[in-house]
Amino acid sequence: MMSVERYDTPAEGRLIGRLPPVRGKYAEGVAMAPFTWFRVGGRAEVVFRPMDREDLAGFMADKPKDVPVTVIGVTSNLLVRDGGVQGVVVRLGKAFARTEFLNGQVRFGAATLNGNASLSALRLGRSGLEFLSGIPGSIGGGLRMNAGAYSREFKDVLIAAEGIDGAGQLQSIPVDEMGMSYRHCTAAAESIFTSGLFTAPDGDPAEIACQIESIRAARAKSQPIGARTGGSTFANPNGLKAWELIEAAGCRNLRMGGAMVSEKHCNFLINTGKATAADIEALGEEVRRRVLESSGIELRWEIQRVGVPIRIEGAGA
Ligand SMILES: Cc1cc2nc3c(=O)[nH]c(=O)nc-3n(C[C@H](O)[C@H](O)[C@H](O)COP(=O)(O)OP(=O)(O)OC[C@H]3O[C@@H](n4cnc5c(N)ncnc54)[C@H](O)[C@@H]3O)c2cc1C
Repeated sequence: MMSVERYDTPAEGRLIGRLPPVRGKYAEGVAMAPFTWFRVGGRAEVVFRPMDREDLAGFMADKPKDVPVTVIGVTSNLLVRDGGVQGVVVRLGKAFARTEFLNGQVRFGAATLNGNASLSALRLGRSGLEFLSGIPGSIGGGLRMNAGAYSREFKDVLIAAEGIDGAGQLQSIPVDEMGMSYRHCTAAAESIFTSGLFTAPDGDPAEIACQIESIRAARAKSQPIGARTGGSTFANPNGLKAWELIEAAGCRNLRMGGAMVSEKHCNFLINTGKATAADIEALGEEVRRRVLESSGIELRWEIQRVGVPIRIEGAGA
C-alpha cells in the first residue's frame, strides 16, 4: 500500500493536472522511503505506473517537455534524497515482468527481478545467466548500470535493450550501441528500458543449479544482504578495489547520524535504523574525502542519487 499525500488545491494547479491521460495509474506525493532499499528518501511529486509499453510511449510523447522523468527499478542501487523527487517517477509493474524464451535467446521484461530471471533460465536449462542470481535488482536497472557479478556483466550476455526514448518512440538498441562499460552505459538518460534480449544457450541444469548455489553462498558470506543498503557505494577504480582503499583509510564502521560503513563489506553503507538520506550521502562524501587524503584516489559514486537534498534538523550529528 503506497502512502500518498492529500491535497486541498484543485488538480489544475498541480503537476498531475498537466499530465496526459493514461491507462495506467498516477499517484501524487508518494512516500518513497517505504519501498527503497535504504528505507530513506522524501516523496515523489507523482508516480506513474504504466499499463504497458504503448501506455508508457504515449505518456513520454505527450507529457509537457519541462516535466522531468525519473525511472526507478527496485532501488537496490539508488539513494532518494530527503527532499523527494520533482516531476514524475516511472515505476514499471507486472506487465513489464514477462519472460519469453526463444531459440537460444530469452527476453526478460525490465521489471523482472534478476533472481527470478536466473531461476527461470535454470528451469529451462538455459545457461550463462547464473550471475544474475548475485545481483538483487531488476533487469531494467541492470541494463542501465551494466550490473555484474562473479566475472560476468550484462554486456556479456545482452543482445539488445528494448525501450522507449524521450520522445515516446519505441527503440531497440543493439548491445554494441549501448556503450556499456564497468557499471555504466551511454544510452540516452531519457531512455526507459522495457525489456532486454539476452543470449541463453542450452546448458546442463545440474551445473547451472550448482553455480547459482555457489554464488548465493559466496554473497551471504561477503555481503550484508539483509541490511538496508544500496550495494557497492563506489565503483572500483581501475585495477583497484574500492573496499580496500576505504579500509586503508580507516573508514570501516565509520558512522554519521544513523548511517554506517558496513562491518562486513566496507564499500557498503548501511542505514542502521534512523538514518536520513543526508546522513548516508554525507557519510559517503566523508569516506571519499578520507580515501582521497590517504591514497590520492577519488572514488566515483556507483550508487545513483536522485531528488532534492535537504538538511534535516539534527541529522548527521
Ligand atoms: C546487497 C546488494 C548487493 C549488490 N550487489 C551487486 C553486484 O554484485 N553487482 C552489481 O552490479 N550491483 C550490485 N548491487 C547494486 C544493484 O543491485 C544493481 O545496480 C542493480 O542492477 C540495480 O537494479 P535496480 O532495479 O535496483 O535499479 P535501481 O537501483 O532502481 O536504479 C538504478 C539505476 O538504473 C536506472 N533504471 C532502473 N530501471 C530502469 C529502466 N527500466 N530503464 C532505464 N533506467 C532504469 C535508474 O534510473 C537508476 O539510474 C547490489 C545491491 C545490493 C543492495
